[in-house]
Amino acid sequence: MTLPNIDTSDLTKFLIDLLNVPSPTGFTEDAITFVEKELSQFNQLELSRTRKGALVAKWVGKNDAEPVALTAHVDTLGAMVKDIKPNGRLQLTRIGGLVLNGVETEGCWVHTSKGEKIRGSYMLNKSAAHVYSTKVSETKRDEKAMEVRLDARVSNPQGTRELGIEVGDFVSFDPRVEATNGFIRSRHLDDKACVANIVSAIKSLTEAGQSPARSVYFHISNYEEVGHGASAGIPPEVHELVTVDMAAIGKGQSSDEYHTTICVKDSGGPYHHGLSNKLRALAEANGIDYKVDIYPFYGSDGEAFWRAGGDVSVALIGPGVDASHNYERTHIDALTATTNWIMAYLLSD
Ligand SMILES: [Zn+2]
Repeated sequence: MTLPNIDTSDLTKFLIDLLNVPSPTGFTEDAITFVEKELSQFNQLELSRTRKGALVAKWVGKNDAEPVALTAHVDTLGAMVKDIKPNGRLQLTRIGGLVLNGVETEGCWVHTSKGEKIRGSYMLNKSAAHVYSTKVSETKRDEKAMEVRLDARVSNPQGTRELGIEVGDFVSFDPRVEATNGFIRSRHLDDKACVANIVSAIKSLTEAGQSPARSVYFHISNYEEVGHGASAGIPPEVHELVTVDMAAIGKGQSSDEYHTTICVKDSGGPYHHGLSNKLRALAEANGIDYKVDIYPFYGSDGEAFWRAGGDVSVALIGPGVDASHNYERTHIDALTATTNWIMAYLLSD
């Protein structure tokens, strides 16, 4: 059996568009709606939302073996306004494992509770080299040492509040997406790359007139970065859950930006050996070159479901992403390999 063709320019375009929709955890409505709109063109999918706000798409399979599920998350790192400072600037509190020096000097939006967007940038409090000299490079980056400088003429808390800004407003950082020579460089490839992989697999199978062997639920999670995304929303009849999330690259890691990876162990312990082996066999049978890896500081939505009592086998696959939770980068080869692996899984009994 040969796998359907993937339209890589379409995959890249969808990914870039999704990356440009701000979606820090807790503020994912627009990104969920964006994915929902894309999936609504496929009449065979039954779409629904969980009460928590995740998107679920069901595709009825050709046989009546036990259903399976795949999950990927649209929520990303970000921040919220912790304090409006005496100078009118904003101290932030991080959402998820945001790396502060990774977003230093980055453009950002403050999303007010009334739906307004106010522009700014995230700066070290003492960032002027001609005033603070060597302190600028020596200061330890933490939430108190950094602030949002608003692009508005405000210099006190009252002025800032008049813009509609309040404690608790969400802050999103510019993804700064670029696609060059097959590389996609952006914040938040974790895990929008894998949402794009799932959408691309659905699209490619549909265009080839193929459908999954077993019924499948696609779960687009919205609280993964804080640890409980897929703890709800996986239907009880599901027997296998394949989490699709980025592979961690670095010293001592086997993953790279050109391959898809199966993670067999992370901070939450080993994944399901049987399901992982099934995925390895499928990759080998379909000529998908993959890596096997262990991620030292990592948790996944599959584990979130396990911790919530989910009685399923869980595995984790995904494209290699360089500089995770920082200014990330991957390559189209890793993305197509991951999409192929998803399709091989969907077509398997
Ligand atoms: Zn992730």
